[in-house]
Amino acid sequence: MDCLFCKIVAGEIPANRIYEDSEVVAFNDINPQAPTHALIIPRKHISTLNEAAESDKSILGAMSLAAAKIAKEHGFDQTGYRTVMNCNEHGGQTVYHIHLHLLGGKAMGWPPYQDKLKTV
Ligand code: AMP
Ligand code: ZN
Repeated sequence: MDCLFCKIVAGEIPANRIYEDSEVVAFNDINPQAPTHALIIPRKHISTLNEAAESDKSILGAMSLAAAKIAKEHGFDQTGYRTVMNCNEHGGQTVYHIHLHLLGGKAMGWPPYQDKLKTV
């Protein structure tokens, strides 16, 4: 399968891995938007959150738990951090293998974008 993140899981494309377990791999984002910007991805290929099945509940849970562990390891679990999963075009998804962004190490504004509200 021609998927960038599957290739990272397989070790065919290098990535700066910071965490892995039986269900997920995490590595630093190539274009960081915060002092720590990691991507947590499942070993299993799931293209968008829409394609996640009931049987993928454990994987989705593992992704969130990995984020909390990494935040603790980096020492910003108490000051805080953000997790984001973008879905499809309006969500800003560019890589079609689900990934949880973990952003930490600075205070972030909310809402993240000031775009005009658009209806779909
Ligand atoms: P998204 O726009 O939510 O699909 O996020 C995709 C993310 O993948 C972006 O933040 C990119 O900077 C990041 N990215 C793309 N290619 C790589 C790569 N080879 N290694 C690490 N991060 C990558
Ligand atoms: Zn994939």
